[in-house]
Amino acid sequence: MEPKVNNWEFCEKPEIVVHETDLLLIGGGMSCCGAAYEADRWATPEGLRVTMVDKAATDRRGAVAMGLSAINTYLGENSPEDYVRYVRNDLMGITREDLTFDLGRVVDDSVHLFEDWGLPIWKKDEEGKRLDGAQAQREEMPSLRDGGNPVRSGRWQIMINGESYKVIVAEAAKLALENNRKATGVDQNHFERIFIVKLLMDQNDPKKVAGAVGFSVREHKIYIFKCKTALLGTGGCVNVFKTRATAEGQGRAWFPVWNSGSNYAMAAESGAEMTMMENRFVPARFKDGYGPVGAWFLLFKAKATNALGEDYCATNLEESRKLYGKYVDSLGTCMRNHMMMIDMKAGKGPIKIHTDVALQELAETMSKKEIKHLEAEAWEDFLDMTIAQAGVWAANNMEPEKVSVRIDALRTLFAGFSRRMRRIVDQWS
Ligand SMILES: Cc1cc2nc3c(=O)[nH]c(=O)nc-3n(C[C@H](O)[C@H](O)[C@H](O)COP(=O)(O)OP(=O)(O)OC[C@H]3O[C@@H](n4cnc5c(N)ncnc54)[C@H](O)[C@@H]3O)c2cc1C
Repeated sequence: MEPKVNNWEFCEKPEIVVHETDLLLIGGGMSCCGAAYEADRWATPEGLRVTMVDKAATDRRGAVAMGLSAINTYLGENSPEDYVRYVRNDLMGITREDLTFDLGRVVDDSVHLFEDWGLPIWKKDEEGKRLDGAQAQREEMPSLRDGGNPVRSGRWQIMINGESYKVIVAEAAKLALENNRKATGVDQNHFERIFIVKLLMDQNDPKKVAGAVGFSVREHKIYIFKCKTALLGTGGCVNVFKTRATAEGQGRAWFPVWNSGSNYAMAAESGAEMTMMENRFVPARFKDGYGPVGAWFLLFKAKATNALGEDYCATNLEESRKLYGKYVDSLGTCMRNHMMMIDMKAGKGPIKIHTDVALQELAETMSKKEIKHLEAEAWEDFLDMTIAQAGVWAANNMEPEKVSVRIDALRTLFAGFSRRMRRIVDQWS
């Protein structure tokens, strides 16, 4: 620490703990838990030491802490090339197609592992009847690996009972770390509640990371981790922009507020190339609770309109085509959100998603029991993932199956800008 700003006048000097390892995983979210599991397969047989460090408790930390209700990408019958085409369209060409292809190539392997570790995945039976994850497990439906048929919402997403998703993945990571610890004979290789603040560069090679330094959030200790190589997986960055939420919803964001930008700060400070940073992610979400709208749009087939009852994706089609050409026809997420914001700027808001109509329409083809189950699922969608959304509805005595709900574009998750992207988004800031 800088002696000029801290000469230990106000607190005692902390104890300094030094830990040496070969591979240092910084963060204990989905990415580092996955890396811990993978590393155990190739690093342990080589006698390499793997260490994972998180600022909180791995079981319930990171963006998946509350759980998720879907897995956004499972290729199944689709090819990686199809996936690249979809991402290119959805993000209007601002993508790294090599990385997208690579992700598409291997993503199903990870999903199969999640199911092996116990994650309940919704399945369709031979008659096309939907079973939620718990029912599918009870009825011993075949796993995805064995040809089980997942329930899809949209072409790419599959539904899960995901309240304990993070706990399940953390357990696999912790078992892998423990296996590595025993094999390499170290005392400890899983550290929780240590906030990493800086990457340490190699004295002989300023481009190489040789460690990281952090402090315990529970004890008066500073930790210095020395490593041969490191993976920085400390998540996204929330609340860079003021959200549109008001009153009860103020301060809330879709992404968890503890994703505070460590990843960008530490990577940028150590001179890393920041790639795929051109996107500022502006998703449509239920206003104030910030629950994701995906399940309602894709699974329950709800439609959204402006305050005049117009379908803004139809009324703004031709005008948008002049600016964005072919991207208008595939009507990806960016395009749909853009059209929604055209109407909001024109004073035609609020935008509402007609959750009530969607369930009434589904009720026409379903039994009473099935529709009750679906209603429960619609609530659970949020109890699994964004509990605040269910809280806002309950607090306002609102039932989304009976009334339409306001949605908004939300600008909280920040990546970065290229000049090209800045020109596009600045119109709407
Ligand atoms: C409400 C919501 C719904 C979502 N829905 C879906 C969905 O349906 N399907 C889907 O596939 N994806 C979904 N996502 C996205 C998915 O959760 C993320 O993409 C994924 O969790 C990112 O993983 P990560 O490892 O990069 O970051 P995270 O999982 O966020 O992990 C980051 C970890 O780093 C730790 N950390 C942060 N800073 C420090 C520091 N300075 N020092 C030490 N540790 C630190 C944190 O404690 C955390 O454990 C959703 C996300 C949210 C919030």
